[in-house]
Amino acid sequence: MSPRRAMSVCPTPGCPTLTQSGRCDACRATARRSRRSAHSKGYDARWARTRKAYLLANPLCECEECTAIPSPLRPAATEVDHIDGLGPLGPRGHDWSNLRAMTKAHHSRATARSQPGGWNDRG
Ligand SMILES: [Zn+2]
Ligand SMILES: [Zn+2]
Repeated sequence: MSPRRAMSVCPTPGCPTLTQSGRCDACRATARRSRRSAHSKGYDARWARTRKAYLLANPLCECEECTAIPSPLRPAATEVDHIDGLGPLGPRGHDWSNLRAMTKAHHSRATARSQPGGWNDRG
């Protein structure tokens, strides 16, 4: 009897690599890299605190569409957007006047529109 452990396929969707436990080395490295890149953009513990405090004070969606409707009808925000689009590392990354509370759906809609040439370009 060999003490060799059975190999199983890496649990990452679409990855066919056989591995002894958990994810394969390549997927583990990818996971480490993506964590680091989110962190390097400033989405760290400090941002988590800023975001939480802002959402506590501004619990409703503040996107362009929602600010036009009465607050009792506005959806609850779950994300915080940077108006300047620069994220937590920007010069106003933790400045509340540069933040907007948004629902997830409205945040992605606003982000799509704020690409170059979008409404966010007008300054
Ligand atoms: Zn894998
Ligand atoms: Zn909205």
